[in-house]
Amino acid sequence: MTVQLEDVTVHFGRTCALEGLNLTVAAGETVALLGPSGSGKSTALKAVAGFVRPSRGRIRIAGVDVTDVPPAKRGIGVVVQQYALFPHLRVADNVAFGLRAARRPKAEVTRRVAEMLDMVGMSTYARRFPRELSGGQQQRVAIARALAIRPPVLLLDDPLAALDAQLRADMLDELQKLRREVPDVAIVYVTHDQAEALALADRIAVMRAARLVDIAPSADLYAAP
Ligand code: ADP
Ligand code: ADP
Repeated sequence: MTVQLEDVTVHFGRTCALEGLNLTVAAGETVALLGPSGSGKSTALKAVAGFVRPSRGRIRIAGVDVTDVPPAKRGIGVVVQQYALFPHLRVADNVAFGLRAARRPKAEVTRRVAEMLDMVGMSTYARRFPRELSGGQQQRVAIARALAIRPPVLLLDDPLAALDAQLRADMLDELQKLRREVPDVAIVYVTHDQAEALALADRIAVMRAARLVDIAPSADLYAAP
């Protein structure tokens, strides 16, 4: 599904965290938001997720204006640092949460949770609670939870930051596989790592001081001198 941000502006008190962002992410496309800390990347993603309310502008998903729709009703998968695992639920129940909320049949939930935990290498931790896991392990479960519902829109806020190099490479592979397997998914991927952006994104949007300063296909950046 297509995601559109139209002139989206977000203020926190007197701080302008995001200024007039116009960006369309097509179905099947991955756009990386790349830029230094504090440039507004997370704020843009949180506005799409519905965690922060724009002071100006509109957000559309599949053409529908969702600016006033609560996060849980936007039907999107989200991995952000602040959107932690449910602490009182075991790993498997965390991953099952969205599927159960969508009233999927029990057999499907069981199968899908097993698939997702296998994908992120966390099958042996299914019965653990989040507090019994390392930060990187929690992040992997958060990715499994977000992907379990096969969301048409996926928002990832520096999802690989807490992982070591090997796991990061594995998860990059998994995300590339996801793009092949779910061809219509629109992905917004926040990172400060240019190599990650180049590896995953069709286009890279460069953010600086609350503004989009450049947007170009990754291939053009590869070709740049
Ligand atoms: P990035 O993701 O690029 O690191 P952010 O979107 O998190 O940047 O932040 C953009 C700006 O907005 C920063 O100046 C940050 O301090 C500010 N900001 C972000 N969230 C809040 C908040 N909840 N309250 C006040 N200021 C915020
Ligand atoms: P991220 O890793 O997503 O960029 P940050 O470390 O920037 O997150 O921010 C962590 C949390 O603190 C977020 O909920 C963000 O909205 C909030 N925050 C960020 N900057 C500020 C700020 N200047 N004042 C108040 N809250 C902030």
